[in-house]
Amino acid sequence: MKITFIGATKDVTGSMTLLENSAGKILIDCGLYQGPNEVVKKNLLPLPFNPKNIDAIILTHAHLDHSGLIPRLTRVGFRGQIFCTKPTMKLAHIIMADSAHIMERNEHHLLNGFYESPDVVVATSLFKTKKLHAPFDVLGMTVTFQSSGHILGAVSVHIVDGADSAVFSGDLGRSNDPMNFPPEACPKAKTIVMESTYGGKVRSGNMHVELINFLKKIKAESKVGIIASFAVARAQLLITLIQQFYKDHPEEKVRMIIDGPMMTEANKIYKEFSDLTRMPEELRNALEDLDIIDHVSEWNSIRKKDGPLIIISSSGMIAGGRIWRYIENWQNDKSAVVFLPGYQAEGTPGKELSIGNRNIQSEDGTPIHWSGEIVSSSAFSSHADQNELMAWLTNVDKETKIFLIHGEYESKLALKKKLLELGYKNCIIPES
Ligand SMILES: [Zn+2]
Repeated sequence: MKITFIGATKDVTGSMTLLENSAGKILIDCGLYQGPNEVVKKNLLPLPFNPKNIDAIILTHAHLDHSGLIPRLTRVGFRGQIFCTKPTMKLAHIIMADSAHIMERNEHHLLNGFYESPDVVVATSLFKTKKLHAPFDVLGMTVTFQSSGHILGAVSVHIVDGADSAVFSGDLGRSNDPMNFPPEACPKAKTIVMESTYGGKVRSGNMHVELINFLKKIKAESKVGIIASFAVARAQLLITLIQQFYKDHPEEKVRMIIDGPMMTEANKIYKEFSDLTRMPEELRNALEDLDIIDHVSEWNSIRKKDGPLIIISSSGMIAGGRIWRYIENWQNDKSAVVFLPGYQAEGTPGKELSIGNRNIQSEDGTPIHWSGEIVSSSAFSSHADQNELMAWLTNVDKETKIFLIHGEYESKLALKKKLLELGYKNCIIPES
């Protein structure tokens, strides 16, 4: 087996690793670079392989930074199979379709024409779903999925090729996530390729406490609470936690509105596969039984509403999407509160708000001055922190070759230092 690191070596997006044996070539993940323009432009660099010569893609999970380049590959000739779990296939479909839609609708978008909806249709036709712990053959190699605990359907991938073997962690989840079961420990292998997003951090904060404080504030002070959420995974977690709190404390309940077509689609998929999650049984129907804003008339009816009111909308970094109309509508209202329970990338309006800069710009350049309160929380990450990454390696021999990807350089360095301290001797930060 020969491994070539292509994407997510210098940062946390654009995940893609090439794996070759004598029978052919496969990709582990095929993700889009996301973030500021100089990062997005990396998507336009020539691919270091001919897509027609790629025999298969193994997709660890649906997030755009792991799946978002697949329609581009089909556009330029890839016709191999794409292996993943069933929930990943369904979530990847809505994520890729949304991505194509964003590229299509704005002719000034850096990736306008990069791929379009018909490319997503072709990509979707190539998916082949596999179950956890059920080995399958790709190019004579035995491939097995195990849960990585990151989002619904997310896996780590164990590959055995004769005497050689490798594990690709995918994105790893946390040990105490309310929605996902903890990641299954890494099996023994000759080579391990692992993510390092929070390789240098031990998580602080408590998502339950921070969310409940926010909900109580909205009720007690009759405020309008606007929650900026990623449409997939984060929104379903927020909805579940909020419903749980309102079930336990009906006296705190206020109207909760959901606005985001992709969020609504993802809700259906989370409900369909809720047996694979830790979602309490009695709350599963709540994912579909929601106050959803679908039509302009419904939107118009809430524009002048006073609190208490909760709105969950996307995008999670306020970089576009339905949330803009709420930010714009309540920008001058000091009784409105923005809640940012997620990672905010540099250069996004969410990041600006989180560091106290109230002057932000909409996608089309409209300036907005946010007058109300801003509440951030870093407790909601769906990534393993340093301790949890260590725990994942429990069964791994100290001599194993461990490559660190999918992390800022400082995170990888910190994780490498920690691994060396613990006796893992062969820890490598690869270059692409
Ligand atoms: Zn992810």
